[in-house]
Amino acid sequence: MDTLTESDLRSGYFVRGEREFMIDPDTVLTEEAKIFADRYGIKINRRDEKLIPEPPKEVHKGKISVPRPGAAPKEVRVESVLPEHGKPEHMTNLNAAELVPKNDPRITFRGKLDTFQADLLMVIAKCYKYNSKELAEYLQEAVGLLRRIMAADVKNEPLGEWTFIGLTSAELREHSHHPEKYYGLRHQPPEADMRYAALELNLLRAKSREVEMAFSNAFILGHTVLRKDIAELLNRLSSGLYILYCRAVHGEFDGCCCTQAGKPAVPEAVMQVPVEVSARHVHLSKADVEKLFGPGHKLTHKRDLSQTGEFLSEERVTLRGPKGEMKNVAVLGPERSATQVELSLSDARALGVEVPLRLSGDLSGAADITIISPACELNARGCAIAALSHIHLTPEDAQAMGLSDKQLVSVDVDGDRPVTFRNVVVRVKPSFRKFMHIDFDEANAAHIGKSAAGVVRPQN
Ligand SMILES: [Zn+2]
Repeated sequence: MDTLTESDLRSGYFVRGEREFMIDPDTVLTEEAKIFADRYGIKINRRDEKLIPEPPKEVHKGKISVPRPGAAPKEVRVESVLPEHGKPEHMTNLNAAELVPKNDPRITFRGKLDTFQADLLMVIAKCYKYNSKELAEYLQEAVGLLRRIMAADVKNEPLGEWTFIGLTSAELREHSHHPEKYYGLRHQPPEADMRYAALELNLLRAKSREVEMAFSNAFILGHTVLRKDIAELLNRLSSGLYILYCRAVHGEFDGCCCTQAGKPAVPEAVMQVPVEVSARHVHLSKADVEKLFGPGHKLTHKRDLSQTGEFLSEERVTLRGPKGEMKNVAVLGPERSATQVELSLSDARALGVEVPLRLSGDLSGAADITIISPACELNARGCAIAALSHIHLTPEDAQAMGLSDKQLVSVDVDGDRPVTFRNVVVRVKPSFRKFMHIDFDEANAAHIGKSAAGVVRPQN
């Protein structure tokens, strides 16, 4: 017993221009084939049902004549689909074996996949430009999944297992339905004054729906879904993009302060920060203060520094590395939980130590150094860094400037050697006072003396 499938009808219809099929009495017609025949007006005849013998088809070059049974022969003019030399311009390969016209719904679907991938790549490029690496990586996952869909369709293979933004299909569905429960975020309809990342994600989400519609046209026949695995993944891709949109609305992927669209520019005076130059210095733990200066010793206050509670102490130490020593290095109070030595890169080179660029308090990969007092030589492990330039702000300053904690900004410092500092880290705390801190190398590069002012700019 034979079976006539949707694929048989499709290739007959598109490749050979067949509008009518003759099948044996016991040939089984699949559900999809019935729907396809119905959609394209294809007539299926069973041999014993046919009263009039099938007339021979007249095939002319450039046209196919298909007389309808029981009716006056009617000429259907179609351009020859069988090329004399190579592939006709209006045809394309559905797969290695099947040639279809370019307006076949499955080719339209592949075109939409292609466009969507191109849109994603443009947004990924912008993410890298604006330092939103995390978002770029999420979107790169989406590109990978689109490529898998394309391959699965062309090769007619199952998609297999997948996750998106670290979530399974069921989790994506659940999280996108309850963003408040999982992310503490309420749904917000898109508006023009949202952050750019949110607007880009909203656009991508809308485009993912277009891909779903093209899929429906090609793969859903009546109530039958031909590729349920692809349908599910496309649905979850748009759920995932919606989750990312919700997260972006709340500023999660901001690379810099310019990522908020439609807001009036903050006056330059508000964006100004005083610049302070930090010379090499040491913060000590309580235990290390006692090792270096004796049991029960407390750092002696000499004068206050710009940040509330921070002070320069009377104590001084010598720093020693493999290549040299630096005497009379300032010790800043109060005591901290961990000892930290902040050097410029020039200092580090002179001492022969390799220091990583770190925010104060982050000692990952920090270098070993010897801290020397009159009483003791302390072999301090993993404590020397070059501090990243940063800006201290109170929450009120940050709000007025449209900035948030950990955001990266650029700062222009004018003068006889103007310099723009990039990737300056914003730090927000109620106890802070508005100051930018740079080290001596950076100050010399900009020819800054004791103090200067910088203007914070959107980083792009
Ligand atoms: Zn600082």
